[in-house]
Amino acid sequence: MRRFYFDKNDMHGDMIRISGNDVNHIKNVLRMNIGERVVANDKEVNDYYCVIEDMDSTQVLLRVESYRKCAAELKTKLYLFQALPKQDKMELIVQKSVELGVHEIIPMATSRCVVKLDDKRQEKRLLRWQSIAESAAKQSARGIIPRVNNIMKFNDAIAYAKSLEYSIIPYEHAKGMDESRQCMDEAAKCSSVGIFIGPEGGFEESEIEHAFMQGIKPVSLGDRILRTETAGMCVLSILMFKLS
Ligand code: SAH
Repeated sequence: MRRFYFDKNDMHGDMIRISGNDVNHIKNVLRMNIGERVVANDKEVNDYYCVIEDMDSTQVLLRVESYRKCAAELKTKLYLFQALPKQDKMELIVQKSVELGVHEIIPMATSRCVVKLDDKRQEKRLLRWQSIAESAAKQSARGIIPRVNNIMKFNDAIAYAKSLEYSIIPYEHAKGMDESRQCMDEAAKCSSVGIFIGPEGGFEESEIEHAFMQGIKPVSLGDRILRTETAGMCVLSILMFKLS
């Protein structure tokens, strides 16, 4: 069934109002009719199974027939701290990490990031990444639309991760897969986990030390060097598998 997201204040009793771009999509692209059924999600893990009751050029009105909590959310909230990669790789990272169950993505500026974005370009990129997150959430039937946070400096990102229960920082010079396995097992027991991924040039040793001092565990992902866009997906896949 087609899935749409709505704002909580657009629900009154058993009626839900869909507005914005989705109206054109429902009416003119999907050519849906009154009486057809859709799933409306309140972006807070609640799925409402609805029938289209009415529509015009500005809104689609849905009547709720039944309710089910969305089963698609992982029991641990995964926060991907991704150092800004080159070109448009971030778009792929946003899309794939949403499919794999990420809760929030925090683009991060680290000392070896090549990409520098001025305020105006940052704003444009953030809007684009958020819209990619929304499409990916719809496509993969997520119960929330994962947020793409503002770009944070490395130190601010580390401070932000303080509010999480556990965090890891994959580092290609970290040793020992047994330790990595233990860290992943530990992470899967927590309610929120941060995953820090470096840019193409990797993290500076001083960044790893700083993270370590703040209680963030350096982990190995094996004896091969993964590209920045692969490393995050690797960790998300491992955790998604343990958490599903
Ligand atoms: N420039 C580095 C590689 C950076 S890879 C080099 O060539 O040596 C980009 C990021 O992916 C790293 O900062 C790290 O967070 C992660 N990563 C890649 N391969 C990894 C591995 N084998 N173990 C742990 N982390 C890895």
